Amino acid sequence: MAKEILGRVDCPFCHLSQGVRVTHDKNGQPFGYCDGGCHGQMKVGGDAHRVARFVEKYPWAAPLNAAKPVSVPVREPEPEAVQPVMAPVQVVKPEPKPKPKRQPVANPFDIFLKKEPA
Ligand SMILES: [Zn+2]
Repeated sequence: MAKEILGRVDCPFCHLSQGVRVTHDKNGQPFGYCDGGCHGQMKVGGDAHRVARFVEKYPWAAPLNAAKPVSVPVREPEPEAVQPVMAPVQVVKPEPKPKPKRQPVANPFDIFLKKEPA
């Protein structure tokens, strides 16, 4: 059974760029093998911290067993009796317009007060 090559990384041994092919080992953990020259083997699995660091750098190399979503029973939130809360309404009073200054209007009755020019 040919293992699916997940991706390639630089070889830490012979420093060949993309020399290491990364597959899943029999435990479903990332495993590297330099098929470019030095045949160095890079065992990532077996240490959760090491796997985590490796996957952090190469997300495509996530271990198989981590891909399974764990079904967690989701508890439905209980419907709460929602009391409508009236937000305090802020009444913005329109700025009172400055009243136009009234010009003193000539009293129409002044005519009676006016003395006839002599
Ligand atoms: Zn190498």
